[in-house]
Amino acid sequence: MSERITGHTELIGLMAYPIRHSSSPAMQNEAFSKLGYDYAYLAFEVGADEIEDAVKAIRTLKMRGSNVSMPNKTLVGQYLDELSPAAEMCGAVNTIVNDNGHLTGHITDGIGFMAALKDNDIDVIGKKMTIVGAGGAATAIEIQAALDGVGEIVIFNRKDEFWDRAVSTVEKINTKTSSHAVLYDLADLDQLKKEMADSYLFVNATGVGMKPLEGQSVVPDKSYFRPELIVVDVPYSPLETAMRHMAKEVGCKTMNGLGMMLFQGSAAFELWTGEPMPIEHMKEILN
Ligand code: NAD
Repeated sequence: MSERITGHTELIGLMAYPIRHSSSPAMQNEAFSKLGYDYAYLAFEVGADEIEDAVKAIRTLKMRGSNVSMPNKTLVGQYLDELSPAAEMCGAVNTIVNDNGHLTGHITDGIGFMAALKDNDIDVIGKKMTIVGAGGAATAIEIQAALDGVGEIVIFNRKDEFWDRAVSTVEKINTKTSSHAVLYDLADLDQLKKEMADSYLFVNATGVGMKPLEGQSVVPDKSYFRPELIVVDVPYSPLETAMRHMAKEVGCKTMNGLGMMLFQGSAAFELWTGEPMPIEHMKEILN
């Protein structure tokens, strides 16, 4: 990479803490290099008490933009000039674009999820989706699905610290989009079975199935699935989960979380460059 960095190269950041484990720098730099963009993407350890100064640095250094991850996703919006409709509704930002000093915050997780469905020939527009989760990933998916025109969104979550966020998401979807959303307690397993029975798509957007909840599933057993149901996991480490293993045994089409990860990065890349990542090339690199 050192050979391609010159005095003209512009910087794009990733601001989060911890962040050294991230695969985004390798992914974004590979895509910039492949398509000949003169950007360098670097990860910076930036915590909650440093994000305001980090945004000032984006302006001062005339960076093209940045990705933002935990703990900054819900904090950074207040320091920007504008938010996309999805970022405004989610109350979270994962991508900043700097257009000559005007900073706009976007959230590409939901865009990435919807793009990954499309890439797998899954068309949920106008149809019913049941989804478990009310955290960062789930909220971004639920809001983007509603903005894109998914007909009915049935949300399940535990009555934990994320419950109030789910209540707020449902209210926003029902007042600001043409989609209809409802919320149920994940402990109500009869309701879960009933809603899954006539859904087109079922999504696990919790950390269940991923370390340290590896081997666990939000769906108790195989009787909840039918072959026509499409079953999607947002977790991607490990790639195979107990839930999708059960769904596959019943004959369901399934999708893991890698596509969402790739396409949320592609959406950010497109916001900075104006064109999507070279997806087929990136898939080869990731596999
Ligand atoms: P978060 O901490 O914001 O939300 C956690 C969610 O999991 C909440 O809804 C919570 O109620 C639920 N939950 C936690 N433990 C549970 C349990 N034992 N039973 C039932 N529900 C439980 O997390 P997040 O950032 O939204 O991430 C959720 C998952 O999605 C993680 O595995 C994360 O790695 C993954 N993720 C994937 C992508 C991708 O691109 N594929 C992007 C973001 C996050």
